[in-house]
Amino acid sequence: MRSPIVYCGPMWGGKTEALISRLVRAKLQDIPVLAFNPRRNQRYGTTDIKAHSGAHFPAISVESGEEILQVCKERDPAVVGIDEFFMIPDAMAAVSALLDRRAKVVVATLDMDSEAKVWSSVTDLMGIAEEIIKCPAVCASCKGDAYYTFRKGMAPSSRLLVGTDDFYEPRCRSCFEAGQEAKRVQDGEEGLFSQQARR
Ligand SMILES: [Zn+2]
Repeated sequence: MRSPIVYCGPMWGGKTEALISRLVRAKLQDIPVLAFNPRRNQRYGTTDIKAHSGAHFPAISVESGEEILQVCKERDPAVVGIDEFFMIPDAMAAVSALLDRRAKVVVATLDMDSEAKVWSSVTDLMGIAEEIIKCPAVCASCKGDAYYTFRKGMAPSSRLLVGTDDFYEPRCRSCFEAGQEAKRVQDGEEGLFSQQARR
């Protein structure tokens, strides 16, 4: 098994599902597996890793990469799964240390935020990855392959994209850019309106 393996892409691309199937396979092979996810992701109210499809896998929720490493030092897993890697501070340091310990690491993560900026920890991760699998979703506008996560107009502009599935949708590049342009136009009009209202 290559390591690290990175499943990445937008929301709803099946990254977590792919991660879970890797972990289940390792378990069936009687390989000691541990899985982690970020503690602040309370989307589904449990500590399991859960995919949109309903697949799930028991996981330990952590606040930092340091915590991942501590648990792994105690329990010495051969395979380590990390879901929502981009949300865990210092997760990259944990991955490097796990590789030094000869553990195999499988990661699922968003690659870009809703402004199409790549998370810097994900850039680092991809640099050392032995296998990278892009998991496109289906564009909510045109049904093409979607590699972007689009933030709908009324969504709060937090960078973290947590627990607010209703506020986001997957889009292909051209539908993403059209949506970003529409938001800029709307923001401009609202700015103009409030300027006029103040006069
Ligand atoms: Zn599209």
